[in-house]
Order: sequence, then structure tokens, then C-alpha cells
Amino acid sequence: MAAMNDKVRGYILNNSDFRETDAMIKVLTEDHGLLTFVAKGAKKTTSKNAMSLLPYCVSDLFFDYREGKDMFTLKRAELVKSYYSEDLSRLAALALISSIAINGYDSHYRTDLYGDVAQAFALCESEDVIGVIALFMAKMARYLGVGANVDGCVICGNKKVVSFSSHDGGFLCLEHLGKNNTLEPSTLYKIRLLNKIDWPHFRELGKLEFGLEDLMIMADFFYDHSDFDRRPYTFFLKMNRL
Ligand SMILES: [Zn+2]
Repeated sequence: MAAMNDKVRGYILNNSDFRETDAMIKVLTEDHGLLTFVAKGAKKTTSKNAMSLLPYCVSDLFFDYREGKDMFTLKRAELVKSYYSEDLSRLAALALISSIAINGYDSHYRTDLYGDVAQAFALCESEDVIGVIALFMAKMARYLGVGANVDGCVICGNKKVVSFSSHDGGFLCLEHLGKNNTLEPSTLYKIRLLNKIDWPHFRELGKLEFGLEDLMIMADFFYDHSDFDRRPYTFFLKMNRL
């Protein structure tokens, strides 16, 4: 049977060394989910494909698709758009989003992950990356079925909340505050929005000006309730504290 020449468009989430001159590429595609490609000779300076295989690019990849397999030999790649940035904070944000997407895929979470990555990458170009990451984490937590309870106090349902507890899984009222610190109403409002809205409303969130403190509340919750690799997040914080 003649070899098929299949084409798939996807987001390059990871590019790692593989054998001497080869690279292993993880690509999130709309139709086939997360695929792994071995790009032969991609590390050679003469490689025609190298530019299209850099992390955080959208590229068209040519290969022979085989049902039931998720690892393929890449024939050729064409760059569609690069999100790569000289800005270290932005680059760390893209790395963090990519890592969460790969972990999410491995956790058998499939619901429109492609759409979430597409939205997050695009927003990272023009919006505050801290807010983008916070919403990405909040959405992933919801998909994983561990979303925060932000309708009222998690213990009694009281709508008058004064704090957020990762351990308890959501808001707390004054009576159930325990050893937690109270939070500013503006912080509580941001946490509530993060856990309610979706990408089309992101710009409303942008007006609220997200700080690292806000992200840290959301991230602690997210990592406490999942087994995702925390290192890309730690690296992002480091890049933003410089
Ligand atoms: Zn309560």
C-alpha cells in the first residue's frame, strides 16, 4: 500500500533532544489530540524543519498517520505562526501553559484542550500573562472535576465570604475562617470570576489587574488538587520576581 501523506496543524508544546541529532516534538492537534513526532536531524544546523519545530509555534506537520498510534516520524514541517517571545516572562508563561496542557492530556482530560491552548497562547501576546495563566488553571481544575466552590462558604453556604481556602476547596465565611487569613474583597471577587468565566470574557478580567498574589492563590489551589508538575510554575514565578 502506498504511503499516505497526512497533514496536521498543531501547537508545538515541547521540543526535546532525542538521540544524537534528532528531536522529539509534542504537538497538540485539534483532531488527533496530543501527538509525538520524531524529527530526524532536526538538531542539525542545516535542518529545514528546525524553525517550524520550535516550542510555541503553530505548524503544519506532514507524516503518515496510522490508526491507534500516537508517535510518528515527521517528514516535513511548515511554520504557520510563532508565539515565541523574547520576553522571558511571556516565554515562561507559554512553557507553563504547555506543561499544564501536556499533563492535562495525560490525565485523560480531552475536552477542548486545543481550544484552551489556542485562546491562552493568543491572549499571552497582548494581555497580562498572569491573568491568562490564572484562568487557564481555573479552567483545568474545573475540567478535572476539582473546581473551587465559589458560590458561598464551602461549609455553610453563607454568601458573605471573607477568605478562600485551598484545603477546604473554596470560599469561607467569617464563622468558618479558622486559621485562614481574611482576603480583600477585590481578591475574592477576582477568584470568583476566574472560576466562573471563560475566554470570551477574559478582557473583563484584564481590567481587574491581576497580581502574582492573585495567581498564587489560584495556583496553590490548582496544584493542591492535581498531581501536575509544579516546576514550570515555580520557574514562572522566578522570572516574574526578577
Ligand atoms: Zn460558613
